[in-house]
Amino acid sequence: MWRPTQLDPAHVRQLQRLRDEYDIGPMVIHTSYLVNLCSQSDIVRCKSVDCFRAEVQRAIGLRAEYLVLHPGSWRGLNRAQGLALAAESIEDATQGLDLKASELQILIENTAGAEFSLGGSFEQVAELIEHLRPVIPVGCCLDTCHCHVAGYDLVSIEGYEAMLRLIDTTIGIKSVCVWHMNDAKAGRGSRLDRHDHIGRGTIGIEPFRRLLNDSCFGHCAFIAETPVDDPGDDARNVRTMLKLVERDAQPRSTPTSRKPQ
Ligand SMILES: [Zn+2]
Repeated sequence: MWRPTQLDPAHVRQLQRLRDEYDIGPMVIHTSYLVNLCSQSDIVRCKSVDCFRAEVQRAIGLRAEYLVLHPGSWRGLNRAQGLALAAESIEDATQGLDLKASELQILIENTAGAEFSLGGSFEQVAELIEHLRPVIPVGCCLDTCHCHVAGYDLVSIEGYEAMLRLIDTTIGIKSVCVWHMNDAKAGRGSRLDRHDHIGRGTIGIEPFRRLLNDSCFGHCAFIAETPVDDPGDDARNVRTMLKLVERDAQPRSTPTSRKPQ
């Protein structure tokens, strides 16, 4: 919805109390899918800036740690214009908000690499992050399904290691704060963003085990964005991932200091 929701202070207090009680964190919010900060349409872009600003204000009010954002679609422009516009819109939307005093960080999510969408490659995500770093606290959210359908190989061991080195030399491993954990209905490189249950799609179960136990990402939150076809599917996907976690996983070196396979 474009229409902003107002937070009820009593609900905010209750949320905080429950988070403390159950030790739930970090809190990660996903920006409305309507937001397109690099739209060539002035009307859509203006609405997007207002909507995103309201998201940031609510996230600060909720004391969330992260707000995830898809960089948008630059249809009708070129990629460089789209990138500049997205950076400019984010700057406009956050003007005068004291983000540095809050705990909030904006996370740019990589996309499935559809035509005109910004952020289909790690290089593009890194470029946007570099543009924004002087303006707002910014990091990255990577989505397993988006990586896979955008063409990255996280299924084979060699492919995964190569992907890791690329993440490290573009975005930087430490800038990755959240992983969206989704299997994919479509094949690698298909650019089709269709999420599937963990282990039941074209990625399969092993790459999720590898990712969850990779100490490179020990600082990350892992979130299931899997479909709910039957009641309880969400909890089942989380349980599937929990079973993959090896409690005594050994720390390992950073990908760039590791030998290429
Ligand atoms: Zn996602």
